[in-house]
Amino acid sequence: MTERVLEAVGICKSYGEGAARVDALKPTDFYVERGEFVMVAGPSGSGKSTLLAIISGLLTPTAGRVRVLDRDLDSMSRDTFDKFRLEHFGFVFQGFHLLPALSALEQVSIVLERQGLQRGPAHQRARATLEHVGLAGRLRNRPAELSGGEKQRVVIARALAKQPQLIFADEPTSALDSENGRQVTRMLRTATDEGATVVCVTHDPRLIEHATRVVRMEDGAVIPPEEPVMI
Ligand code: ADP
Ligand code: MG
Repeated sequence: MTERVLEAVGICKSYGEGAARVDALKPTDFYVERGEFVMVAGPSGSGKSTLLAIISGLLTPTAGRVRVLDRDLDSMSRDTFDKFRLEHFGFVFQGFHLLPALSALEQVSIVLERQGLQRGPAHQRARATLEHVGLAGRLRNRPAELSGGEKQRVVIARALAKQPQLIFADEPTSALDSENGRQVTRMLRTATDEGATVVCVTHDPRLIEHATRVVRMEDGAVIPPEEPVMI
């Protein structure tokens, strides 16, 4: 039995007006089924980040609608959406909002506390998740004391710790060497074994082998539109 956790219909995005108009995303349908690791691949400028930002509710489309976990995103107020996102979505973007003053442990536990966990259990789960991503020895370090690969693992731990239903990743390996890149991708893949669904956009062809389905984009459109490549 498959279950569509995300369905976008006719979503598109244009920037600018007249001669300066850029159709970053042409009208596109996109879906994700529970447990998938969908990779959106394509060259730089093909509209991948725009697609991801729209389906994760970070960007309002010019037209079209997005339904996630049986909720229409455009039917929610800002506040309702912020709560919905905190509860159900994890984001893995390059260096996404790591707070300079907080240790690795605090970066992760603060999100859990915001979700309503008490400090003790939040710290416990944060520690376990950081150990899971190989940062047992780095719990007390701040971002400035961590390498690029370690920072990215903190970002992943922060996304995984709250056990979100959906994880959205935008070029999660772009600043990493190949070994760190492989590890980060493996962690995302493992998250799907633990019940998460992952949508990852990348222009890095090495990551494609990890996907359960690959959707290719070019010039603001999915190609071929009807039949995403299955691997
Ligand atoms: P990708 O992630 O595949 O590199 P993007 O979705 O970032 O592609 O961008 C798609 C197109 O939209 C590109 O031509 C880009 O220059 C343009 N674009 C993206 N964001 C903006 C913006 N805020 N204003 C104007 N043009 C934009
Ligand atoms: Mg991008």
